[in-house]
Order: sequence, then structure tokens, then C-alpha cells
Amino acid sequence: MKFFDVHTHLLKDKPDTNAVLNVFWQDLENLPQGQPFSLSAHPWDLDTYSAAEFEQKLQTHIDNPLFMAVGECGLDKNTAFNPDFQISVLNEQYKFAEKSGRPMIIHCVRSFELLLKWQKGKHVKMLVHGFNRKIELLRELIKAGFYLSFGAALFEDKTSLNAVLAECPPDRLFLETDDQEKYNIEEIYKKVASILEVDIEKLKAQILENRTTFFKQ
Ligand SMILES: [Zn+2]
Repeated sequence: MKFFDVHTHLLKDKPDTNAVLNVFWQDLENLPQGQPFSLSAHPWDLDTYSAAEFEQKLQTHIDNPLFMAVGECGLDKNTAFNPDFQISVLNEQYKFAEKSGRPMIIHCVRSFELLLKWQKGKHVKMLVHGFNRKIELLRELIKAGFYLSFGAALFEDKTSLNAVLAECPPDRLFLETDDQEKYNIEEIYKKVASILEVDIEKLKAQILENRTTFFKQ
């Protein structure tokens, strides 16, 4: 059974791994052949964002089965862009996700209250990637219907994240490498299997099942 990396910026040629490569919408021309991808208008990078151009790119891939998700997109308090502008872009991303029948991969930094408020009543499936926050927030996100993805933060000396991971319902869980190179997806699976005290093959099976549910169109 293969490892599944739900969110990565760095493609490794690993035959035992399936990954969703995050592609910035400006870089779509450089997409490796046969590679599943998500199409991103990242909140760090909205200087040149144009809804019309984004939609045009999306439109060319709307029937492409390798186009897995809209994102990462989202809200980030550490950027220069004001929250109203970020919400308006997120609304556009949401419309694209809805129209194309894809789920969304969400980047959220210090903006969870706003994200939860924004997501209320929306029906497109969403994954918060790189989750490393408190257990109370995990509970709120799960209640609101979000999927969560964990990664390299589990290796930091922050044992409370282990308890947060353990609280995540198995059917909402994903794992990722994101943009770091220190830990590969296999190491992240091993870490999670040891924290959750589950067999690694069982963990692989659960995440493949989640992949089927989350990315179903
Ligand atoms: Zn990322």
C-alpha cells in the first residue's frame, strides 16, 4: 500500500508514494506530466492575482482528473494583504471549487475565527493543512466539517500536538510534507503510527480511504 502525501511543494520521485503537488497558478505550465496537483492562489502571493486569469487556467483543467483540489488558499494574518481582500479572494476560490466540483486545501495562520465564520453554511469539503494548534480548535474545526492534515510540526518538541493528533477522528486525518525537506512522508507516517499506536499499514489504509472520500467529485 502506498503512502499518500496530501500537500507538498517538493516532488520526490518515490514509487511508494502518491502526492498532491501544490502548484501556484502562475506556474501551471511547469506541471510534471501525470502528476496530481492542487491549484493555488496562496495568501502570501496575491500581488499579481487575477480572478479572471485564475479561472481561465482552472477552466483548461476542469476535466483533468489530475486536478485534485483548489488551494492552498486561505487567510494569513502575517501577510501584508488586508483580511477583507483575503476574504474576497477566498470567496472567488470557493466559487471555483464549487464550479469545478473540487475540494479545497486551506492555509490558515492566526485567522481561525475568521475562517470558521466564513466557512459556515458552505458545502465544499475543506482540509486545513499543516495543523499545529490547540485541541479546542481541532474540535471546533472537526465539528464544522473540516479535514485536517499534520506534518513536520509533530517532530518539534511540542508534545501537546501529539494529544491533538490523537483527538483527530481517523476519518478526517491526512498527512503531508508541505515545503520542508527534513522529514519525508514515510518518516511522518512512522511518527504518527507511533503516536497513535497503530500499525503503519492500517494507517495507510485509513488515509487512502480518506483520500477517496475527500476527493470524490
Ligand atoms: Zn504549503
